[in-house]
Amino acid sequence: MKILLLGGTGEARKLAGVLTGAGVEVMSSLAGRTTDARQPVGEVRTGGFGGADGLADWLRDHPVDAMIDATHPFAATMTAHAVAASRDTGVPLLVLRRPGWTRGPDDTWHWADSTTAAADLLPTLGSRVFLTIGRQGLDAFATTGLWTLARCVDAPEPRPTWCTLILARGPFALADEIGLLRENSIDVLVTKDSGSSQTAAKLAAARELELPTLIIRRPPLPAGLETVESVDGAAQWVMRLSHSSST
Ligand code: NAP
Repeated sequence: MKILLLGGTGEARKLAGVLTGAGVEVMSSLAGRTTDARQPVGEVRTGGFGGADGLADWLRDHPVDAMIDATHPFAATMTAHAVAASRDTGVPLLVLRRPGWTRGPDDTWHWADSTTAAADLLPTLGSRVFLTIGRQGLDAFATTGLWTLARCVDAPEPRPTWCTLILARGPFALADEIGLLRENSIDVLVTKDSGSSQTAAKLAAARELELPTLIIRRPPLPAGLETVESVDGAAQWVMRLSHSSST
């Protein structure tokens, strides 16, 4: 078995390890925009394919038994390209998407459908903002006029001057997140519904300090896709495919 694994997440890295350990050949694909990205085991290719047609051409030139999209829940363009290339080439596609955040009884959560909708709603929720949506989409918040602490893994280019920027990569500890919110007198948290355990502590910190959290909803997945929510589920899908192709 050989799998093209569209990565860029912790789950993709974990899956590459599990599949490689089970004797499956894995080619991980990374967008290549994060400096010092953690590398998965197995073969790795880096950089875009050149749209859906480019991905379809790549699949024709590099035959694989299946493709798994384990990109970030907000990487909607890559997912749309994977769907189109799978349809055009007949290569089976599985989407691995971890579940979103789950609201607890003590959480004060507000939802927005997009970064611009979140920026519109934000001034009604607070005035000192902790913005943790990555570097894409930051600009939508530039015009809120609110004091903003933005945290990203890599600095946006050009570097924004309207907010205070900190560069850090998870996992983050709850005590540190509480300290950061207190030191900066934060009164509202903004995040995407990434569902990542690596960055969940900020939600617990906001709950602890009774701060409102504004969450940007995930883009919807295209209809009719085969999806799983866990690395184990994806590994089982590959094993089932392997058995059905060998019988
Ligand atoms: P996107 O908007 O869906 O994709 C934009 C373009 O980047 C795609 O059209 C593709 O270029 C290229 N690309 C994306 N993922 C790729 C991959 N795994 N391998 C090869 N090319 C890829 O995605 P994005 O939001 O920019 O995310 C880029 C990467 O960062 C993804 O791997 C994602 O998992 C990871 N990431 C994203 C976020 C986020 O919030 N969006 C957060 C953390 C990590 P071509 O059209 O040229 O093929």
